Amino acid sequence: MAQAGRLVALGLPPSNLTIHKMILTQCAVCATELGLSLGKKCGRCSTRYCGPECQVQHWKEGGHDQLCKPIKKAGGAEQYNANKKYSEAVSVAAEKCAEDTKGQTCYICTQAVHWKTKEGLVRMCACRGTAGFAHVSCLAEQAKILFAEAEENNLGEKALTERWQRWDVCSLCEQHYHGVVKCALGWACWKTYVGRPEADRVQSSALGLLGVGLSNAKHHEAALSVEEANLAMMRRIGAPEYSILVAQSNIAVTYGTLGRLEEALQMKRDVYSGHVKLNGEGHLDSLGAANNYASSLLSLQRFEEAKALFRKTMPVARRALGEDNKLTLTLRWCYAEALYTDPDATLDDLREALRTLKETERTTRRVLGGAHPLTTSIEREIQNSQAALAAREAVESIRESVEAMTPGDV
Ligand SMILES: [Zn+2]
Ligand SMILES: [Zn+2]
Ligand SMILES: [Zn+2]
Ligand SMILES: [Zn+2]
Repeated sequence: MAQAGRLVALGLPPSNLTIHKMILTQCAVCATELGLSLGKKCGRCSTRYCGPECQVQHWKEGGHDQLCKPIKKAGGAEQYNANKKYSEAVSVAAEKCAEDTKGQTCYICTQAVHWKTKEGLVRMCACRGTAGFAHVSCLAEQAKILFAEAEENNLGEKALTERWQRWDVCSLCEQHYHGVVKCALGWACWKTYVGRPEADRVQSSALGLLGVGLSNAKHHEAALSVEEANLAMMRRIGAPEYSILVAQSNIAVTYGTLGRLEEALQMKRDVYSGHVKLNGEGHLDSLGAANNYASSLLSLQRFEEAKALFRKTMPVARRALGEDNKLTLTLRWCYAEALYTDPDATLDDLREALRTLKETERTTRRVLGGAHPLTTSIEREIQNSQAALAAREAVESIRESVEAMTPGDV
């Protein structure tokens, strides 16, 4: 699976495959890390190398003599790569949606097949019935035009933010796109803004969207390389602290998904203390970060630290957000999990865990409904917690009867 998100860079045959990243952060020949800006560029097409040796080798043996022109024509190495990855991602998305979109037409261009690209339709949002079918190219074109309009006419921060959402949120149902459609739109966005100067935050936002898209399509290795490149870029351009914390938070999630739990933990701890420093303990972001950090401790079986952090955070969340808030409920659920999964749990811990879960489930059901994923997750947790308690009670009762039978032997 580690290979799933990788690519044959710049169309080179596999024998010349040295670039493993979805964006080009390495020497095209020897894969030395160059970030987004270091290294020596081909003067014509901007393909990057660690130095002149690799560049010469690429020209003579790597096929660059043939590819340099088409890459230059496309607008440079990064643009060429983005265009290529975009087309691939659109095909994947249209194929995945083929069954769902059969017999439908695009709500933007009104056609079933796109007039120019011949791509099929997609739909991966909350739209149902006959609504929400579209071509990725049409969605992208719409987002690009709307955002450009806001930029050209200086419509202000609010309009810019709203219009930027069109890359990420369906304009009909107002829900985030997901899965391979989000990935295709991530590439669409990156290919649209890759040529912006690095100091332009639009380039960094586009890269951020690409990272999220790749995660959504389960290309986690690729997502990580994009997220890391983006974080490095944000630090270089002096992005606001809040944006950096969001970027670090995404990286932490990806580490976790890749099983790199220690790195995930360290990153989550940094994000948590960063948010506390920025906005104080009672801020929603700080509380969310505390929950993420504590959950990470829990997945590393560091029960005492996890429980201590939950105990510290839960009352703050109750005061700041209220009993019925989703995060407050999530914190209580995770705390209960920490209580009953701890191998050193006492009988009282197990009882407290079950009691907490039942209370939390009732509130969650009332606030979010029985079908909400949080409610169903807590229901599952109740069953596990019940089983743990029953098993322990059985052990205790055996011990008691054994002790009753042989009082003199103790
Ligand atoms: Zn090199
Ligand atoms: Zn070149
Ligand atoms: Zn269309
Ligand atoms: Zn929709």
